Amino acid sequence: MTRRVLVTGGGTGIGKVIAHAFADEGCEVTVAGRRREPLEAAAEGRGMDLRLADVTNEEQVAALFERPYDVVIANAGAGVAAPIEEVSLEEWQRTVTVNMTGTFLTFRAALRAGMERGGRLIAIASTASLQGGAQIPAYAASKHGVLGLVRSVAQNVAKRGITCNAICPGFVDTEMAETAISGLMARYEIPHEKALKMVVGGNPMQRLITPEEVAATAVFLASQGAASVNGHAMSVSGGEI
Ligand code: NAP
Repeated sequence: MTRRVLVTGGGTGIGKVIAHAFADEGCEVTVAGRRREPLEAAAEGRGMDLRLADVTNEEQVAALFERPYDVVIANAGAGVAAPIEEVSLEEWQRTVTVNMTGTFLTFRAALRAGMERGGRLIAIASTASLQGGAQIPAYAASKHGVLGLVRSVAQNVAKRGITCNAICPGFVDTEMAETAISGLMARYEIPHEKALKMVVGGNPMQRLITPEEVAATAVFLASQGAASVNGHAMSVSGGEI
């Protein structure tokens, strides 16, 4: 039977490449996000379904699940890069709500909809789920929270033959990494090359992770061979952590 896959934030960056990877595997893929244009561009020519939904909105998330999915990838996320003194309450709340509450609402709806044996819940977390960073207090706190959720859900769904795992990438070559690089350029008045070096400095491979490498990890976690991998935080960071 064709497996049904949902990717939140599937119109851009990592989510788009994950959606394409599952489509290439012959899965029936739905991409969700708030903006129609990127979703349409991602779905074009791939036979993918697209749905508008804000992952922080309980009703909109529930409405994505009129039928259960076999694989649900909570990828939608956002970040703010600033030391704690400079983070506004609004930025803190937005970061926590999108990353942590969004993942909670997505996984809860997936299970309430009746995810079946063999089901897979995958959160796109971060190396910031496993270590803090001076410039990312809100992001790291929210991504640590995602990992706590994943580990707890994993304990709960195991006997139903479902797994729940987190993928923890280092800096990935997407718009989000480019925003972080621009932020460093502005903050320290340095050229792009130097800011990029700072960003990849923590990765022993000294390069950005590719979205394809994250997507390949998601495909593995969704495979039959990964049936016993549960509650795991899979670092995709070139050995950074
Ligand atoms: P991105 O291109 O900015 O993707 C974020 C996606 O999330 C967008 O498609 C966005 O679409 C969607 N989104 C944001 N807020 C949403 C909301 N409230 N409801 C529904 N969708 C929402 O960045 P990315 O790098 O691919 O990031 C994807 C995930 O990977 C994130 O969870 C991020 O934290 C994680 N990650 C990224 C990196 C990195 O270096 N790039 C490293 C580790 C982990 P709309 O704006 O249209 O809703």
